[in-house]
Amino acid sequence: MTKVTFLGGCHRVGASAVLVEQGAARVVMDYGTAFNGTSRVPLPTSTRNLTSVLTHAHLDHSGSLPLITGSQNHRVPLYSTPLTKELVRLLLMDMLHIGGDSLAFERKEVQTLLHNTHTLEYGKPLQIHPKMRFTLLDAGHIPGSASILVETEANGGGAARILYTGDLNTTDTRLVKGAQTLRTLGDLDLVIVESTYARENHPSRRKVEEAFIESARSSIESGGTVLVPSFAVGRAQEILTVLDQHRHQGLDYPIFIDGMARKVTRILQQHNKSFIGGFNLNKAANKASFIRNNSDRKAALNEPAIIIAPAGMLKGGTAQIYLRNIAADSRSSVLLVGKQLPGTPGAELIESGRIPLIGKHQEFSTYQVKARVASFDFSCHVGRQDVLHYLKQVQGNPSILTMHGESASCENLALTLNEQFGFEAQAATCGQSISFN
Ligand SMILES: [Zn+2]
Repeated sequence: MTKVTFLGGCHRVGASAVLVEQGAARVVMDYGTAFNGTSRVPLPTSTRNLTSVLTHAHLDHSGSLPLITGSQNHRVPLYSTPLTKELVRLLLMDMLHIGGDSLAFERKEVQTLLHNTHTLEYGKPLQIHPKMRFTLLDAGHIPGSASILVETEANGGGAARILYTGDLNTTDTRLVKGAQTLRTLGDLDLVIVESTYARENHPSRRKVEEAFIESARSSIESGGTVLVPSFAVGRAQEILTVLDQHRHQGLDYPIFIDGMARKVTRILQQHNKSFIGGFNLNKAANKASFIRNNSDRKAALNEPAIIIAPAGMLKGGTAQIYLRNIAADSRSSVLLVGKQLPGTPGAELIESGRIPLIGKHQEFSTYQVKARVASFDFSCHVGRQDVLHYLKQVQGNPSILTMHGESASCENLALTLNEQFGFEAQAATCGQSISFN
């Protein structure tokens, strides 16, 4: 019998984790953290006979891994693509640095995890037990991201072929190619699919890029600063590449990159042959200026320039420093390139034109932002039309379970798959198990 249990990431974005068991073989796919709500970590699971596999480095998939892969009781190997291995090292060390005592793990767990991490290339099956193997497939979400195909064997029935998409994108971006079609995967018994944007379609990337470039250009040409608050992993590097690719259209101004985005860019440059946009990113990064300290920041603000700095939702990070400086300047602009979740400073900025920021002397004050604020949909998650198209190509007649989305998105996608396409589909709930006999 093969059993699949949902440990987290159901009816929400955050703390994703799914366990597959077949006899003594056990594999957990992702073990992430959540940044809001009360359950910040997934449900616990025994570390006995456990192997862990990571789809990609984002902390909502990786942030609780030290709790299991850092186990001091059992050795729990972790598998990921080579690029994800480097990124997760950076992000977990940063999490230790920022989180300190508030975390449920310590440095020794992270060190054990890093010691037990192995790399696996796309498309190369790994037999972790006579009755279980898994394969990483390019998920098209960020460089190094993977979906996971788990295949189990059983005597007298109960074998299963399970696809866990992780975070998925089927559209090509400047950095990565969209995920491959399901048509070539053979018959599946279960598909676990993300639902982040299951209720909306994204505009075409080309149109988004054009609008973004036009906004940047108008600020720069009037002598302002363009601040692009950005997620550090993936988005910042895509924006850097987009800007560089438009230099020939007259947007040839200094580009600065700051904070964690800088370190991530360096790692992606080292692995630039492993993803399709690597060459162009390398070129763009070599022309950009990497901010090292406050005097670099001051210099960056002294001339018309574009500054890419985390955090994407303006919740901390060096973006806040720049925003404090340009808030009163109507020639400048703040170009938001990611979803601003309700309750974040970025969402408040869009709604009210005001933003609470920590000042130079650690005092907290609300700034009225005169700089122009605009949002651009550079999402790296599959939209509604595309996820339906992706799933329609599946072979066999699998059950489909939705997760990694607001409750309404998970439910809506399951309902559509059920009513319009005849799949047995439902929104997964935390703690739910499904068995194949
Ligand atoms: Zn992600």
